[in-house]
Amino acid sequence: MAAKPKVAVHKFSSCDGCQLAFLNMGENLLKLAELVDIVHFAEAGPVDEDMPVDIAFVEGSVATPHDQQRIARIRSNSRLLISMGACATTGGIQALRNMTDAKAWVKDIYAKPEYISSLDTSTPISHYVKVDFELWGCPVSGWQMTQAVRSLLFGATPEVMNEKVCQECKRQQNVCVLVTKGEPCMGPITRTGCGAMCPSMGRACYTCYGPAENTNARSLCHRIDGLGLMTGEAARRFLFINSGATDFHIAGLECAKDDSK
Ligand code: SF4
Ligand code: SF4
Repeated sequence: MAAKPKVAVHKFSSCDGCQLAFLNMGENLLKLAELVDIVHFAEAGPVDEDMPVDIAFVEGSVATPHDQQRIARIRSNSRLLISMGACATTGGIQALRNMTDAKAWVKDIYAKPEYISSLDTSTPISHYVKVDFELWGCPVSGWQMTQAVRSLLFGATPEVMNEKVCQECKRQQNVCVLVTKGEPCMGPITRTGCGAMCPSMGRACYTCYGPAENTNARSLCHRIDGLGLMTGEAARRFLFINSGATDFHIAGLECAKDDSK
């Protein structure tokens, strides 16, 4: 019998939520385990970080000197590398430090800042090494990962999901929370993958899946600014979980500039 493809799940600077999404796959994880050999997944049990693998999933951003060393080693040991989640694809919530004086923050927050070894920036995995596929979301969903692994095992490129949350809302016949409730919903610029989870519950989307294709972020900034938000709030909706994504970063800064006029 042919050997099963080897898979590793690595953690970088992150909250572990995407690894949990993997674990929460439940029965599907058991089915996946029949197709592949999971050789490194510290949160689930097996630990062998340096084992050469067919597919490496990487959660988290590069935010420490140690992260920088590890990612190069992991890339050289992996045939395919998939970054998963907002931290790994855009730098995550911790990339907010990229817009400020990170050293001053460390000094203000920690009693013994000399023990903290971190970079001044938090950057996506693709900033350092070649990434073969990106799974967006905070956290990613189990079905996204199953779909990606299955496609790769059959030699196909996984489906890129970058249409807008609004499109998923329309398919589900959700009542629009922006239009009917005046909620500052970011669905018109956010990529789907979550199944329009928040609007389905009557809540506004807050961009956790990152930028969709062909967005008009500046217009959305003006639209939600007209909903009576506090000064700076519209900009903060862009400069949040995915502030490191170029589209959101530029839109957020422009939005903040418009707000200060
Ligand atoms: S609720 Fe939000 S995501 Fe859904 S259609 Fe309206 S603006 Fe778009
Ligand atoms: S609706 Fe928006 S905030 Fe909610 S899970 Fe989906 S992408 Fe994330």
